Amino acid sequence: MIPFNSIKIFGDELKYISDAVSRDHISGNGFYSKLCNKFFKEKFNFKNVFLTTSCTDALEMTAMLLDIKEGDEIITPSFTFVSTANAFNIHGAKIIFADTENNFPNISFDSINRKISKKTRAIVIVHYAGFSCEISKIKKLCNDKKILLIEDCAHSINSKYGNKFLGTFGDFATFSFHETKNLTCGEGGLLVINNSKYVRRAEIIYEKGTNRKKFFLGQVSKYEWVDKGSSFLMSDINAAYLYAQLKSMDKIQKIRTSLVNQYIELIHKNKELSKKILLDKFINYKNNGHLFFIICKSLDERKKLILFLRKNNIDSAFHYLPLHKSKYYKRSNLAFNLKNTDKFSNRILRLPLHPNLKKSEISFIVKKIEEFFKIF
Ligand SMILES: *Cc1c(COP(=O)(O)O)cnc(C)c1O
Repeated sequence: MIPFNSIKIFGDELKYISDAVSRDHISGNGFYSKLCNKFFKEKFNFKNVFLTTSCTDALEMTAMLLDIKEGDEIITPSFTFVSTANAFNIHGAKIIFADTENNFPNISFDSINRKISKKTRAIVIVHYAGFSCEISKIKKLCNDKKILLIEDCAHSINSKYGNKFLGTFGDFATFSFHETKNLTCGEGGLLVINNSKYVRRAEIIYEKGTNRKKFFLGQVSKYEWVDKGSSFLMSDINAAYLYAQLKSMDKIQKIRTSLVNQYIELIHKNKELSKKILLDKFINYKNNGHLFFIICKSLDERKKLILFLRKNNIDSAFHYLPLHKSKYYKRSNLAFNLKNTDKFSNRILRLPLHPNLKKSEISFIVKKIEEFFKIF
């Protein structure tokens, strides 16, 4: 079977874990956590960073910082992973879903604009597959209306808009180092806070609601419970693994991007096939190589293609089931009609993409797709 995802050691992952252990400090804020933090600030220009146990946790920490009150609304995409919305839902927000663009599954500026009300506190956007949303328009809208902007950058590490990295635009940005993402440590995440107003409190929430940070800085003689909070710190064992991946970031990205380009080249060679299954956004592809997908004509066609690929030992995957249609959200009795979200949800098929994938395997996958569509 050609697996959909697979992990690879790029360099010093295991050596650094063993070193973290020998340093006698494997909880949070250790040697490797500090190296990761430094890397994120210097490389991407993130103002304040907090390594977390997941992107979900980073989103939850953000939700805690917002102090959401009854009736507060948060606008999120429906075409996204559950956590983008659920992190705010469990802290009391009313989730308002916006539709995607017509031509690409990023949240649409026009849809956001239509959903803004007096109660909107924040907008959460996802840069799908590493492609930037209409960030400058969305940011201006947020500034004008005094609404907070949160970038869920789970797909978009090392992606840019203009000459600035994604994750530098929002008041907050969150990243994932789950094993399915470009850079990984198994489970892990990062909260970026660009709006300095929130940093002091974040340091407390990050440390389970205590002023532990002040204690370590010698500013108080003992630390105690001063606010709400939870357990968000990444273990230094994970940070050690992550730091090795950060050091190999350029190499990892080069491999992933070249694999995506291999898919694109092979599909694009067959003009009729390319017109049928490839989105324009992938032409002249120069992104971070997070994921590659094709577009089917219908849900039914996609089902048949998945089965056909499986028969040929090729694993593939689809996502996301629209959140506004989920069993859980339906209990809220809020109904949304999101045509583009439904379209992408029914028709996107993700193909294998990981650092162990061989070029010969991509040729085989594309050949099988041609065979399925009978377009040679
Ligand atoms: C993967 C993902 C998450 C969740 O990341 P975890 O680190 O597993 O919590 C959140 N949002 C998006 C868009 C994702 O793709």
